[in-house]
Amino acid sequence: MKQMQEKILEEGTVLPGGVIKVGSFLNHCIDTTLLAECGREVARLFADDGITKILTIEASGIALAVAAGMEMGVPVVFAKKHKTSTLDGSAYAAEVRSFTYGATYDVQVGRECLKRGDRILLVDDFLANGHALRGLIAIAFQAGAEVVGAAVAIEKAFQGGGDALRAEGLRVEALASIEAITDDEVIFRS
Ligand code: 5GP
Repeated sequence: MKQMQEKILEEGTVLPGGVIKVGSFLNHCIDTTLLAECGREVARLFADDGITKILTIEASGIALAVAAGMEMGVPVVFAKKHKTSTLDGSAYAAEVRSFTYGATYDVQVGRECLKRGDRILLVDDFLANGHALRGLIAIAFQAGAEVVGAAVAIEKAFQGGGDALRAEGLRVEALASIEAITDDEVIFRS
C-alpha cells in the first residue's frame, strides 16, 4: 500500500536491533486518516473470505484491527497480555516471545470471545519473527476456530516470520513489506 510505504519513508526511524519506530503515526500517535485507509485495504483484501471475527493482540494491534473490523462489520477480539479479574482459569492461553522486549509472556482470550466455527482474520501492527501471530493461531486452535489469514501493517520480511507462515499455508498480507534496511535505504518488497 503506497500510503504506508510513503509514511514509513517520511517518518519511520530504525533503532538498534532492527526495531522500526513508527510511533508518530501507527502505534503511539495514530494518523487516523491513514488508519482508516488501512482498514479499508484490509477489508478489501479479505472481502470474499467469510471472516466472522478479527483477532489481535494488545496493545498496538488494536487500532488497525478495529479499523478493519468496522469496515468488515465484524467484531474484534484482542488477546490480553496481563491477567485480569475478568479472565478466569478457563481462558484460552498461549505463550508469546516478544520481539521488542526480548521476554516471554502469556496472552489470554476469554472463552466467550471465540466460538468453534469462527472464521478468523489475524491482525497486528508488525510481523517480524511471527511469534505474536503464532500465539494467536494457538488460541484460535484451542477455540476450534479457523484462521483464514493474517493482515499486518508492516512486515519485516528480512526476519522471515511471514514467509515461514506462508510456507505452512497461511495467507499473510502486509500493507508494507520491508525486504531490507541498509545504512541509508529502506527497501520494500514489490
Ligand atoms: P513477532 O512476534 O512477529 O516477532 O513480532 C511482532 C510483534 O512485535 C508485534 O506485535 C509488534 O508489536 C512487535 N514488533 C516487532 N517488530 C517491531 C518493530 O520493528 N517495531 C515495533 N514498534 N514493534 C515491533
